[in-house]
Amino acid sequence: MLNKFQKFYYSKILGKKYYRTGHCLGCGRCCKKIYVKHAKGIIQDEKEFEQLKYQHRFYTYLKVIGKDETGLIFECTNLDPETHKCKIHKTRPGICRRYPQEELFSMGGSLSEDCGYKMEPIIPFSEVFLTIQKKSQPKKKNFWERLLKNK
Ligand code: SF4
Ligand code: SF4
Repeated sequence: MLNKFQKFYYSKILGKKYYRTGHCLGCGRCCKKIYVKHAKGIIQDEKEFEQLKYQHRFYTYLKVIGKDETGLIFECTNLDPETHKCKIHKTRPGICRRYPQEELFSMGGSLSEDCGYKMEPIIPFSEVFLTIQKKSQPKKKNFWERLLKNK
């Protein structure tokens, strides 16, 4: 659970809606079905992807394994198919170290049910609900003002 300062920092300074809890269980699932997003959106064709390879080493690790309604699906060639572990774990790119981030949701992705991480909303729904409820309640002062006006 985040304290007040953390909530403020994540939501107001960093502009985040979710924060990460839990830890990696090393199942390797997130290295097997990957979408790639760039400035124009999620990569849809291989030509587009070839250009990205010059921008970051992470892209050079990926190979296309399919396509669906969201876009091209990649798998990382650094994933050991037998152990399901990353072969370059110590030198893996920052994007892998920071996984999962909330951008995952904006890409139409989701965490696998077995993933050891969870993405929790920074402001829990119960808090949002209470704030809305408080705002929608007429203030006592207004009530007395209305009462006096009606007299
Ligand atoms: S899916 Fe989750 S638990 Fe599995 S390797 Fe990826 S981050 Fe770790
Ligand atoms: S570099 Fe390692 S951690 Fe990153 S996607 Fe590939 S196998 Fe997974």
